[in-house]
Amino acid sequence: MEKLENYINGKLIAPLKGKYIDNYHPATGKVYSLIPDSDAADVQLAVDAAKAAFPAWSVTPTEKRSKIMMKIASIIERDMKMFVEAESKDNGKSVHTAGMVDIPRAVSNMEFFATAIMHYAAESHIMEDTAINYTMRSPIGVVGCISPWNLPLYLFTWKIAPAIAAGNCVVAKPSEVTPMTAYLFSKACIEAGLPAGVLNIVHGLGGSCGQAIVEHPEVKAISFTGGTKTGAAIAATAAPMFKKLSLELGGKNPNIIFADCDFENMLKTTVQSSFANQGEICLCGSRIFVERPIYEKFKAAFVERVSQLKPGNPADEKTRMGAIVSKPHMEKILSYIELAQQEGGKVLCGGKRAVLDGDLKDGWFIEPTIIEGLAYNCRTNMEEIFGPVVTIMPFDTEEEVLTMANSTMYGLAASVWTENLTRAHRMAGKIQSGIIWINCWLLRDLRTPFGGMKSSGVGREGGFEALRFFTEPKNVCVKLK
Ligand code: NAD
Repeated sequence: MEKLENYINGKLIAPLKGKYIDNYHPATGKVYSLIPDSDAADVQLAVDAAKAAFPAWSVTPTEKRSKIMMKIASIIERDMKMFVEAESKDNGKSVHTAGMVDIPRAVSNMEFFATAIMHYAAESHIMEDTAINYTMRSPIGVVGCISPWNLPLYLFTWKIAPAIAAGNCVVAKPSEVTPMTAYLFSKACIEAGLPAGVLNIVHGLGGSCGQAIVEHPEVKAISFTGGTKTGAAIAATAAPMFKKLSLELGGKNPNIIFADCDFENMLKTTVQSSFANQGEICLCGSRIFVERPIYEKFKAAFVERVSQLKPGNPADEKTRMGAIVSKPHMEKILSYIELAQQEGGKVLCGGKRAVLDGDLKDGWFIEPTIIEGLAYNCRTNMEEIFGPVVTIMPFDTEEEVLTMANSTMYGLAASVWTENLTRAHRMAGKIQSGIIWINCWLLRDLRTPFGGMKSSGVGREGGFEALRFFTEPKNVCVKLK
């Protein structure tokens, strides 16, 4: 069975203690490879390598850093098919999704920050005839990047790219649930000639390997994407050490549909925003609020469309809905469907584990599920499910829907569907979310600030926000004589 390796100091190496974790193929439920079960000793090696590489990398000309990053991007592009198939096999997502979303976006992340760094400039502040201030922005040093399983290479590169573009050296940990494309990425870095130690990828569990990165005194900043509870645990360790922290956490996003919307466009996108990637996108709109005059029309049309969406073999080009990432996650989602029914919800479609044929009979699939009849503030509507489950609820007034939309502890993303521009702006101002999509969903411009409010996170990623995060500003005040 294939054994993945850590990427430390430019080389692929086995974990020091020789221990491994099973890596599953969600579509069959079988183990298909082994992941290093790294611990603090492996992290120490990675930190040492990153520290040693930092003096040279931090002063490597920007153009040179940029060129290496572009080379890594071109290798992923060249090997697109291999990366797409690996991502699909490891995560359970369809090759369609991996090929349309995940891997192209990983390429874009590398290219975007390789070029962004060429245009990055610091500010200056002039005090008339007295003085000039200029801001020096230097790389921080060794930084930690920790990512989740839902968009594995996409989110991994979203952190690593700005970190190394800005001149930092990185110790990174992908999710232990989906390590494969990070492993392939380490091979691409070697081929592209990324200097040893600039990026180190250590595989392992959150509590041991991840925690060792977070608590290491030489790791000066942590960029984390994952669950809100994990984010709180990371903050509890890192904050007293005064590390810079960027936390991108969970969501329970409202999708607000007014009666005057472009119905067909809204319906098509709402199917996507509910069930893309099996609902395993932090930005999915899992609470759907529909203005009462079109509630019944929406319900009938939505149930009809979603009933046609069948989980299938992720490796099949025609499949639009793949497997759930892990058995525990599938069980968690099913337990929420049960909870929703106990809370008085009515399942309009789906609601069960889907059992496929042949090799896939033990795979982890769930039917896309729509639930109605729940109170906006019940547990099903308050807690993140992170699967193919949405609730639909009618509303009468803007005020009422704002109360319902803002009622969770989360504040990541929201969609609003209306042709009334004034109302769209008014809603955008009042919804407590870091990202608001009007008449669209997941339309991303990589220059924009990305992140959540409330328990959905601290800080913003994207564009120059990310480069600001990965640099330390220093003001230099020069008195003019
Ligand atoms: P998770 O929090 O369980 O794990 C995320 C990563 O953190 C993994 O690599 C894990 O090994 C590591 N980790 C766990 N405990 C750790 C610790 N104590 N110290 C350091 N690292 C630790 O999340 P998950 O289940 O992999 O991902 C799903 C969650 O991620 C959902 O809540 C989802 O909303 C969120 N998410 C958020 C965004 C966003 O941009 N806001 C994007 C994608 C996913």
